[in-house]
Amino acid sequence: MIVMKFGGSSVANADRVKHVASIIKSYADKRPVVVLSAMGDTTDYLLDAAEAALKGTVDITAVEKLHRETAAALDVDVAPIEELLDELKFLLTGISMLHELTKRTRDYLVSFGERMSVRMMSSYLSAQGIPAKFYDAWDIGIVSDSNFMSAELLDEVWQNIPVHLNDYKSGKTKEIPIVTGFIAKDKNGYITTLGRGGSDLSATIIGAAMKADEIQTWKDVDGILTADPRTVKNARSVPEVTYDEAAELAYFGAQVLHPRSMNPCRISGTPVRVKNSYNIDSPGSVILPVHKGEKPPVTAITSKKNVTLIDIVSTRMLGQSGFLAHVFNQFLKWDISIDVIATSEVSVSLTTNTDKDLSGLKKDLEQYASIDIKNQKSIVTIICDVTRTSEILQAAFSALLKENINVQMISQGASKVNISMICEDSEVTKVVQALHKAYFD
Ligand code: ASP
Ligand code: MG
Repeated sequence: MIVMKFGGSSVANADRVKHVASIIKSYADKRPVVVLSAMGDTTDYLLDAAEAALKGTVDITAVEKLHRETAAALDVDVAPIEELLDELKFLLTGISMLHELTKRTRDYLVSFGERMSVRMMSSYLSAQGIPAKFYDAWDIGIVSDSNFMSAELLDEVWQNIPVHLNDYKSGKTKEIPIVTGFIAKDKNGYITTLGRGGSDLSATIIGAAMKADEIQTWKDVDGILTADPRTVKNARSVPEVTYDEAAELAYFGAQVLHPRSMNPCRISGTPVRVKNSYNIDSPGSVILPVHKGEKPPVTAITSKKNVTLIDIVSTRMLGQSGFLAHVFNQFLKWDISIDVIATSEVSVSLTTNTDKDLSGLKKDLEQYASIDIKNQKSIVTIICDVTRTSEILQAAFSALLKENINVQMISQGASKVNISMICEDSEVTKVVQALHKAYFD
């Protein structure tokens, strides 16, 4: 058995749905379970519609048009989709009347994207003579906590999923399961979501729980690339990365997989293959517990723009215990998450996302330290074998020296797979290109 996950852009219109159906068909003998995201930008459209409803306007034209036109072009039964569109309109009307939108309602609302998408695909496959059956995640026992918009799966999911899919795995039933990504239900029966991009996690939990031979996530590029191809023209496909490397890549900006999606695989050891739907025969990249092939010094380079660098210096704390405890407690209090850290005895530099208001944190920290906050910074992360740092850093520094760039902070990740550097947003393209040239050309 395998799991095949297709993201929104892979099923963005009728042609893409047909293409995905043909890929599914070509894997039919592998007993695929298919996991789908919402079509195209449907999730964003739904979130926009929610904001509009809050201000009194009920408008789902974009969502309706996309789904109706696709159903018509595919010549599939539109009734199950119309039913959901009606329910969606009721919900938006409710929001517009109450002028209230809780996280719980928002999750209920965005769930329509994935639910319409699986109905579309399973009708189309069935019409093509490929027996298929759609499932909303909870139909196969995908349950979560009630942390709406970013729910965690419950442990019982590991037992639940096989109860529903074992007959398919063993060949007793033939209909290919087409399952919604991204969504779940909590113990009270309310719909939850696993966070943006959460379909990857849906796919990996199903694959891990079912002890699948492989989990495939299908993208529009040749697997995981050595760098973002928009920045580095000759970025190339990486044959193999580890779960840890993939999680770091995702976290630091590469559009690979949702960082949390590696967690089920860490438990089961299931390989994840990132495949290109435009280049079906290319092997893509495989994500494994440990490297099987030769481990290269550098696997990939990724970057994340628009981060904030916070410098905290406190000579008062010199030689005393608890300086970092003080600092981190304040971050906890203000619910600000930290990405990269470098420390010395009396100072700590760290980065956070720029979207949060830091004034409260700053005021608290200023009681025992001097604080300097700088915006418009970028994190450049080198995913590498950190047992070879001297070699890697030497190459990095001579490349950056040639470009006359000084990095502002360096941190070697505790996960032992990355080195992160902070530079100006304005320099990040140059930095990534110079590093890529140094390591890969
Ligand atoms: N449709 C959701 C999103 O756009 C989930 C996903 O695509 O994985 O975030
Ligand atoms: Mg999406």
